[in-house]
Amino acid sequence: MRKQGKGTECVQAGYTPENGGPRQIPIIQSTTFKYDTSEHMGRLFDLEESGYFYTRLQNPTNDRVAAKICALEGGTAGMLTSSGQAANFYAVFNIANCGDHVVASSTIYGGTYNLFHVTMRKMGVDFTFVAPDCTEEELAAAFRPNTKAVFGETIANPALTVLDIEKFARAAHAHGVPLIVDNTFATPVNCRPIEWGADIVTHSTTKYMDGHGAAVGGAIVDGGKFDWFAHADKFPGLTTPDDSYHGVVYAEKFGKEGAFITKCTAQLMRDFGSIQAPQNAFLLNLGLESLHVRMPRHCENALAVAEFLKDHPKVSFVTYPGLAGDKYYDLARKYMPNGTCGVVSFGVRGGRAAAETFMKHLRLAAIETHVADARTCCLHPASATHRQMNDAELAAAGITASLVRLSCGLEDSADLLEDVSQALDKVEI
Ligand SMILES: *Cc1c(COP(=O)(O)O)cnc(C)c1O
Repeated sequence: MRKQGKGTECVQAGYTPENGGPRQIPIIQSTTFKYDTSEHMGRLFDLEESGYFYTRLQNPTNDRVAAKICALEGGTAGMLTSSGQAANFYAVFNIANCGDHVVASSTIYGGTYNLFHVTMRKMGVDFTFVAPDCTEEELAAAFRPNTKAVFGETIANPALTVLDIEKFARAAHAHGVPLIVDNTFATPVNCRPIEWGADIVTHSTTKYMDGHGAAVGGAIVDGGKFDWFAHADKFPGLTTPDDSYHGVVYAEKFGKEGAFITKCTAQLMRDFGSIQAPQNAFLLNLGLESLHVRMPRHCENALAVAEFLKDHPKVSFVTYPGLAGDKYYDLARKYMPNGTCGVVSFGVRGGRAAAETFMKHLRLAAIETHVADARTCCLHPASATHRQMNDAELAAAGITASLVRLSCGLEDSADLLEDVSQALDKVEI
């Protein structure tokens, strides 16, 4: 059968109502599920049979929405998490334990950088950060015998570097480990990392997928191609018995297609419980239904703003991977021929103070720690999301004190341009 278009998947994938059933995905607002016999429930606890028993691990509403995201990414299994942070933590911790090591792109989202560099280091997982545009040799040199994964973002938030997915996938696979790609900014409408060699895809669904600033959430999708048994010594968690589930061997019982997500659900959701509320999953699905209609408009508005800023005398630089001449334009054309994202970064001449003056005078664009909303919003990373970083770390993350991140919403581009223009007029240089 011909694979459905992404638009059809956005609208319809993941849930097919039965005859007389609700057209919209039902919100199963229940913590628990009832069974006729203890034996039946026992089989669920042993992972002998699939079914729901407690919403800390799984919920039908979540699973239908996860199935839609999985279809959109072209994966084999998916799950929702309570946040993007939880998704990235689970995706990495599912295969990297205390004593292990992960190679990550240095320009990743500040929250993920903190998670890796500070919190997961406390748990004994070590990280080496590499520039996204490093050479193949530099990338290879970052691996160690205990490396278990490679991590990067399709389009980094807020540095807007574009990951050369094929280069990172080649290096990961040459060292027998999977590539995990956070695809939050591109969304599967603009890029499907699995088609380029990524093994696991993560999302902060809080961003474009929800798209209306309504609910924090995350998702993990497995591409189902990584052969855990081919590198069994590296991934004992997937290839040897799990004593907490009567000795199930995930990669044996659930295959390449299902092992990663089943283990992640059975162990990490069970023990950490970062489940997405079914109510939030319902809201997320409303967003997904129009994702393919909204993304082109976000991109169109961002390109108009980027082109306006490029020639503005009070702007020192513009970073937008969809803008001709951008450092990442060619990579963006390759991986995202139909558009990148709605976020534009730029420098206001005059440094930190000028950036703050500009932001203060915006009328339509609101100052928020958020991106990828229907409403345009704006942030000064050096004084907000990235304020934990020193100047060297900021530079490595591709950020300067004058950098402003503007997330272009779905308003009319003429109104956005007018707003940006009048706010720049207030900056004195
Ligand atoms: C926002 C974001 C996250 C974190 O997601 P939350 O839903 O805020 O926890 C992770 N990665 C990227 C690229 C993000 O933009």
